[in-house]
Amino acid sequence: MAKATDPQIHRNFIDGEWVDSQRGQTLENRNPANNDLIGTFPSSDQRDVEAAVEAARRAFRSWRLVPAPKRAEILFRAAERLVARKEELAREMTREMGKILVETRGDVQEAIDMTYYMAGEGRRQFGQTTPSELQKKFAMSVREPVGPCALITPWNFPMAIPSWKIMPALILGNTVVLKPGEDTPFSSCRLVEVLSEAGLPPGVVNLVAGLGADAGEPLVRHAGVKLASFTGSTETGRKISQICAAALKPCHLEMGGKNIIVVMDDANLDLALEGAVWGGFGTTGQRCTAASRIAVQKTVYREFVDRLTRRARALRVGDGLDPETEMGPLINRQQLETVTRYVAIGSEDGARLATGGHRLEGGAWDKGWFFEATVFADCDPKMRICQEEIFGPVVSVIPVDDYDSAIEVANGVGYGLSAAIYTRNVNRAFDAMRELEAGIVYVNAPTIGAETHLPFGGIKWTGNGHREAAVAALDFYSEWKTLYIDYSDRLQRAQIDTGAFGAKGE
Ligand code: NAD
Repeated sequence: MAKATDPQIHRNFIDGEWVDSQRGQTLENRNPANNDLIGTFPSSDQRDVEAAVEAARRAFRSWRLVPAPKRAEILFRAAERLVARKEELAREMTREMGKILVETRGDVQEAIDMTYYMAGEGRRQFGQTTPSELQKKFAMSVREPVGPCALITPWNFPMAIPSWKIMPALILGNTVVLKPGEDTPFSSCRLVEVLSEAGLPPGVVNLVAGLGADAGEPLVRHAGVKLASFTGSTETGRKISQICAAALKPCHLEMGGKNIIVVMDDANLDLALEGAVWGGFGTTGQRCTAASRIAVQKTVYREFVDRLTRRARALRVGDGLDPETEMGPLINRQQLETVTRYVAIGSEDGARLATGGHRLEGGAWDKGWFFEATVFADCDPKMRICQEEIFGPVVSVIPVDDYDSAIEVANGVGYGLSAAIYTRNVNRAFDAMRELEAGIVYVNAPTIGAETHLPFGGIKWTGNGHREAAVAALDFYSEWKTLYIDYSDRLQRAQIDTGAFGAKGE
């Protein structure tokens, strides 16, 4: 029986305090590698959302007036705390999310990078100054914060993705309520804890844990929320978009992917193979940018498939905390069932199962959600496994005749997040950069590896026209205010008083 002071009982963070959910219900958070209990988290509802939004509204009144370089000082302190705690936070994240330590260190590092980067933006919120068309009139534009923001995040990057949203929102003077993914609230709570310890005033950052329908949706709907930013599935994104559209609320969506690596016959095949293994099986394939399709030119197809199959078979699957492990478990039973279902669909549709395809079972395996690294070969690009996001360690290899058909295959899906081409032909590389329909294109590198100072996001079913990270994020979390100062001491009319040197007729 858990005690009130039990370290395994976690709470919401509202107005600077860790508090229980008002209805008192909780959700269990378990280690996907061995079913260990990490802790219980509030299963929040409308009432918790209201308290959090109210706190964010109150805090916004003063936070928006704090000079941006002063807000930045708090972010710099937070970044330094993240650096100091990186190893501890990464280990906790591997326990909670399952991905291997190398990758959870990367997840924390991404939050560090984003926090430093946005702290730097505290002294760089440049607007424009420009000549007016009239004499003795000054014109400029400045960024203004929008207000309390709803931030809804998935489970696969529990610290990095919240940081992509929280840091730009805060540096611009917004306040936020974060609803983290239900499978990984702990790492998101840690991020919020670090921000609070760094000196953020109460109410500037709030966290409400719970289910999407119970906590996420009321948060997006709340009239006090002025903007919503969501990362998750395309299905949920569409719902959020509809709610926001009805309320005329700015809404940023980062959604699913069906990313591709194209391998031409002039590529460095060793390098392409490394990229395919990392892109396809990194994070157990549970990345929005995972390379779930590989199109290979027929002249090198057999060799590539044979080598990829051998590499996949040899991958060491296990607990991500073990330094020998190369691929951790899936996040939960539901994801395991989805992957299992897609393997059956692939086989029924006529793809050749080259390796994998099964849950790892027996003994300690049964406590976790482990699945073999799986390669389907001889795939037709129209098969469901080549069209739909699986979000697991399943790579579909598609033979292609030439460069043109590779591009056609690459673009022949609904999603448009990330695409890569391996080639040593510079003309082809540049052509592919232009032709690939994706928000992110890599040449001679896999589909994963975004950096925080460049825009991140996708087109088609992956996004809705906004971008995370870089200066692009500032554009989403701020409104432009245009300022005109007339010091002529008389009425000057734009577009009407059009004389060459002042008012018409002078
Ligand atoms: P999901 O859509 O099920 O959930 C994402 C978040 O939305 C969770 O916090 C969930 O509780 C919340 N949610 C669910 N229903 C809601 C509703 N009706 N109203 C408000 N919030 C709601 O996605 P997931 O399974 O957590 O994550 C996997 C998906 O995320 C994949 O499709 C993946 O491609 C995508 N993803 C995209 C990116 C990107 O940047 N494009 C990054 C990571 C993950």
